[in-house]
Amino acid sequence: MSRYAKQVLFTPLGKEGQERLGRSRATIIGLGALGSTLANHLVRAGVGYVRLCDRDFVELDNLQRQVLYDEDDVKGNLPKAAAAAAKLSRINSEVKLDPRVCDVNHANAEELARDVDIVLDGTDNFETRFVLNDACVKLGRPWVYGGCVGSYGMVMAVLPGEGPCFACLVGDLPAPGTSATCDTAGVLNMAVSIVASFQANEAIKILAGRREALAGGLQTLDVWQNTSQLIRVPRSPECPVCVKRGFRHLESNPSGATSLCGRNAVQITPPPGSTLDLAAAEKRLAPLGQVRRNAYLLKVSVDGCELTLFPDARAIIQGTHDLARARSLYAKYVGS
Ligand SMILES: [Zn+2]
Repeated sequence: MSRYAKQVLFTPLGKEGQERLGRSRATIIGLGALGSTLANHLVRAGVGYVRLCDRDFVELDNLQRQVLYDEDDVKGNLPKAAAAAAKLSRINSEVKLDPRVCDVNHANAEELARDVDIVLDGTDNFETRFVLNDACVKLGRPWVYGGCVGSYGMVMAVLPGEGPCFACLVGDLPAPGTSATCDTAGVLNMAVSIVASFQANEAIKILAGRREALAGGLQTLDVWQNTSQLIRVPRSPECPVCVKRGFRHLESNPSGATSLCGRNAVQITPPPGSTLDLAAAEKRLAPLGQVRRNAYLLKVSVDGCELTLFPDARAIIQGTHDLARARSLYAKYVGS
């Protein structure tokens, strides 16, 4: 307990709250700017088990705000889940870490949420948040939404059965290109770390059994304007998810190709259960140019794009946001 002395001294948590944290399990979806800070707070605070999910690898322009990574992770082409777990295990070896290099989607969201006490949103897109919302409402699992663009951000804890869900808050999935993203508006690292800190704070209250201390609404803030607000969000009487219990985002995603926020890149997601032998792929692709491979992924440049292939047969194709072009590159060089 000495590791957590300063937290135990904080009366609303105390020894009992700390023990509850130690018995708690959390899943973090996305290990970018929000997810790095979330994981850092949860692991240092002594949450017993933390599952770390991310589909991407560390790049140089992540280091401005993604606090768990460094230049060695970029040089080593490390997936964020692996780099995060390596760093976090040196911070707190008492926490059980479960890194998953995977895309989170309709096929695995329920599995990732089922055996934990809370799910934390570190994603950068509405599509995945709707999937998370469906999975968590269906399972009755609390989750904490966080979003941040520019200098502005927002946080809301979703308590299924007790309060509004994400669909009550935002309605339907916004049409592509209609909402600001970090790609178009940039993002300040101060804004991200405050948003993630609010999220982790709500999570700690839930896990420690102190729900009475929750904000009870949508917290918004703008670090550049120095403003913040707490907005009451009503539960929508017609909500298709938490009232009518329809979970259409857990049904299959027909395209299998998604443009990645802020990346000029497309992810190709093969059917669940697919695998790719990276060593065999390296041999096959070697004539096309230099292939770099580590335990987690393989990279090769072809036709002006960089292909990154994973053992689950996923690909991230950088240098295009054209879904059709990315699909055709995948078919050509990986096979579909
Ligand atoms: Zn709802």
